[in-house]
Amino acid sequence: MFQKNFILRTFRLNPQASMRGKGIAFLRQARYYRNRPRYVYFNDSRQYNQSSWWSRFFAYARENPRVTYGTVGVFTLFLVTHIDEAPVTHRYRLMMTAEWVENYFTQQSFRQVMAEYGNYILPSYHPISKQVSSIMVRLIAAAHDYKDPTTGERVNLFTVLGKSDIPLDKWEFYVIDDVRMGRPSPNAFVIGGGKVFLFKSLLPICEDTNGLATVLSHELGHLLADHLGERLSLSPLLFTLNIIMFSIFGSSRPGDILVNMLLNRSFSREMETEADYIGLMVMSRACFDPTGAPKLWRNMLQFEQQQGGSVPELVSTHPSSERRLENINGWMSKAKGIYEENGCYKDLRSFWYR
Ligand SMILES: [Zn+2]
Repeated sequence: MFQKNFILRTFRLNPQASMRGKGIAFLRQARYYRNRPRYVYFNDSRQYNQSSWWSRFFAYARENPRVTYGTVGVFTLFLVTHIDEAPVTHRYRLMMTAEWVENYFTQQSFRQVMAEYGNYILPSYHPISKQVSSIMVRLIAAAHDYKDPTTGERVNLFTVLGKSDIPLDKWEFYVIDDVRMGRPSPNAFVIGGGKVFLFKSLLPICEDTNGLATVLSHELGHLLADHLGERLSLSPLLFTLNIIMFSIFGSSRPGDILVNMLLNRSFSREMETEADYIGLMVMSRACFDPTGAPKLWRNMLQFEQQQGGSVPELVSTHPSSERRLENINGWMSKAKGIYEENGCYKDLRSFWYR
């Protein structure tokens, strides 16, 4: 029945064409069409229902309050028990992805990346690979022994979410020579299980060790806060919302606008900001100068402008670079506090001549 209605509505009304410039008139027309009189054939085994499945669903819900309250209750209980707290930022979010689902997606993306870039990976003895791995080793050590600046508590950020720790010898660092490939795309990412990828064309933007540490700690931040799991937890909810919007409006456009353009983007911006924050704190803990972070994002902004609007992949779903710089400058005193408390600011001489 749903299928039949769906096909009729799509072909007869062509909602997307009718939407243009009509607004209320279209909605009225659509409502009339949904409630239009239908002929019932005698001796016909097929059932022609007067109302749409949506209104029948509500009618059923009204007639069976026990079922309704039960379902809503179980669903709410499920959601409430699956809310957890992100490390470092202590943000509450919905997490309902099993570890094996995440592992599956991680393996898939690793296979994809290897199929595409496998031939362009720099050898592990290459100076750039060495540099990336030495920075990552420091960042990983800092995340293993992170000290919360407000509570003073020391935690292993890898195990905060109840996930299994990744031992240092299990990490793999790959530098992809995208310049040799002929299509430079300055980017970096860390995937579950401890696999780090960095594109060589990102190095001139990073400029120095602190810039590189900013990028790598941001990506590590995504892993530590398990943003893959969060994204996978949200997708069934967003999908359901899309279907509800489709059944109300009879068009995929409003759902697209609400779910993809507003909700999805705001979620991904939130995750990006969180990765920035975690990254900044972890890099400061690892004795990388936090003032390198705003410098890197300014370079990134400059690169964006040079490209004339074509946004590099690393920043495409990210908050605007101006907003990001503002955030980072706001967190700077906290980051500097961590950096100085570690004793990082003292160079060797001042240490000996104290
Ligand atoms: Zn990011």
